[in-house]
Amino acid sequence: QQKRTQRGAVCLYNEDIYHHVRLEEARRAGLAEAIRNNELTVYYQPIVDASTYEVVCIETLLRWRFRGKAISPAVFIPLAEKSGLINKLGTWVLERACIETLELDITPLPAVSVNVSILQLLEDDFIAHIDRILTGTGFPATKLHLEITESAFAQNRVAIREKVEALKARHIQISIDDFGTGFSSLSQLQLLSFDRIKIDKSFVMDLSSGNEAIIRATLMIAREFGCQTVAEGVESVSQAQRLRNMGVTHLQGFYFARPMPAAEFTHWFHHKDN
Ligand code: C2E
Ligand code: MG
Ligand code: MG
Ligand code: MG
Repeated sequence: QQKRTQRGAVCLYNEDIYHHVRLEEARRAGLAEAIRNNELTVYYQPIVDASTYEVVCIETLLRWRFRGKAISPAVFIPLAEKSGLINKLGTWVLERACIETLELDITPLPAVSVNVSILQLLEDDFIAHIDRILTGTGFPATKLHLEITESAFAQNRVAIREKVEALKARHIQISIDDFGTGFSSLSQLQLLSFDRIKIDKSFVMDLSSGNEAIIRATLMIAREFGCQTVAEGVESVSQAQRLRNMGVTHLQGFYFARPMPAAEFTHWFHHKDN
């Protein structure tokens, strides 16, 4: 649709853009209120050992219900980053995850993995927040994994390295998320001591020969660096078997379980083998 503006200039999709901007404004305002209004929930998805299917880790994934509709974190996390809310949101998730997983009726507790935005990581008080949350909740640092997307490593090398060192000193583990989708160079990654590479689901969901070659190359890198590998987005038994045979050490995806609220997770955990 073409629209004439008052000044007579032709403007394409005028109304669409207007609605988009209004919606984004409404969401931004809504997001600022979301924590207070109890609209945010943390969901939990298991990560399993590729050979035994034992649950070794739980990834936390944030959910937001706004005006009765679920909005994807792929939409509101970038919004939170743009509007300066990511710190508050990230700290909230971390604290909720520590409190809720300690309350799960699961012993021993698997590791808990939390996604961290690069903007959050680079905040001056990030490490102080981590220390405060671990002390306040009693969550063991050795069981905390932080996921940082690979694309973040293209810049801020020195600053990221400093933060990672501080986390390592506390025995917190680092996972590189969405590996293979960013533009960071291997020499940049090599400067960091990370513990785990998460192979992006786009490679897993289409196990074509090209993607299989990328996964094999990733496995070689992981082996050289002595770190674990997690394949994300595993949806079928055949994918699970192929990935295990290729040498991927850990698997995650709807084939095992979808992300779920804490109470549902406990129920799933105790019934999964039946
Ligand atoms: P991610 O960390 O790479 O998370 C994996 C995404 O894949 C999640 O989407 C998960 O629900 C989805 N997934 C898991 N298994 C399967 C599967 O078998 N098939 C398919 N099609 N998808 C699967 P989700 O929950 O929508 O999150 C999207 C992204 O938003 C996350 O990607 C992460 O980057 C970001 N995110 C989520 N929660 C947080 C958070 O608390 N903090 C920050 N900074 N980012 C978050
Ligand atoms: Mg992740
Ligand atoms: Mg990922
Ligand atoms: Mg992702």
